[in-house]
Amino acid sequence: MRGAPLRDSFGRRIDYLRLSVTDRCNLRCVYCLPVSFSGFLPVSELLSADDLVELVSCFAEQGISKIRVTGGEPLVRPGIVDLIARLSRVWGLRELSLSTNGVLLREQARDLAKAGLSRVNISLDSLKSERFQRMTRFGRLEDVLAGIDAALTAGLSPVKINVVVAKGFNDDEIADFTRLTASIPVHVRFIELMPMGETGFFSEERWMPLSQIMDRAAPLEPLPPACWPSGHGPARYFRRPGAQGTVGFIAALSCGFCSSCNRMRLTAKGMLMPCLDASEGTDLRPLLRRGADRPEIQRLIAEAARKKPRRHSMLERSRGLPANSRFMCQIGG
Ligand code: SAM
Repeated sequence: MRGAPLRDSFGRRIDYLRLSVTDRCNLRCVYCLPVSFSGFLPVSELLSADDLVELVSCFAEQGISKIRVTGGEPLVRPGIVDLIARLSRVWGLRELSLSTNGVLLREQARDLAKAGLSRVNISLDSLKSERFQRMTRFGRLEDVLAGIDAALTAGLSPVKINVVVAKGFNDDEIADFTRLTASIPVHVRFIELMPMGETGFFSEERWMPLSQIMDRAAPLEPLPPACWPSGHGPARYFRRPGAQGTVGFIAALSCGFCSSCNRMRLTAKGMLMPCLDASEGTDLRPLLRRGADRPEIQRLIAEAARKKPRRHSMLERSRGLPANSRFMCQIGG
């Protein structure tokens, strides 16, 4: 690290960046994006590959050691493999991972691994074909299952499967997902539904608190942190007796993990967001456009880090405050 490490005004060290490389997605998951959404950024507003590499180099010099590439769906961005290859060569990064819906992973997993990607998180909310299609509106379950297979074969390890749980939609599949960890070496993480964007989907009735999700996932034995898969962030891990993989839980709402939050998000157009729930960010693109030097960009990044709020307000939003006005794909999930 060359510059001072990033810290917020509460003393939390920021060493993790979620990097959105596009706001577009090839699915329209019911809780994520309205089916008719047409407010995607014009391509000319997206950060270019050169912009992304330059910014990641700035962040890395300030102690960001982990990058998760996300979106939208990062695999729909043309040139994603080359971009990963360039990012993987940035000095100072320890880990480069990617979040995907898995639809295009079968074709790209090998090249991504060769390009230097460390591992993938794959979002998958149902193991039932028809339900999967209903939840994603356009997706085919078989494509995602083939993507998971391809990721395992390519050695993108550990492979994590993120399952957003919504009552009355997929809560009856919690046990099926935990059983999956017995047959293949994947790490299933159950995630509480969050009130993000005006999708009309989130409601207290659909929200399933972590305690109920955990009850449905039983029997599970606690795993000592030394055995947790790498990059565990806010998840807590357990194992089904004898299983190859693990089961993790991420309680975005019911057990606030903000006190240990170490991350910021960069949107596809260059807004640096201090928190998933933030309504305002710091626009880094104008500096890139006028050719600002690294120290100037890094000063703005450090200032943005200091604006990180103590905690998000999603619990309040779930109880009557309006949902965050941005969709997940606009912030970088
Ligand atoms: N397309 C990639 C993917 O599917 O992983 C990356 C972007 S996607 C927005 C990132 C994650 O956000 C997905 O796991 C998705 O399920 C999750 N997500 C989106 N809206 C959510 C919500 N309202 N509550 C909880 N998770 C949500």
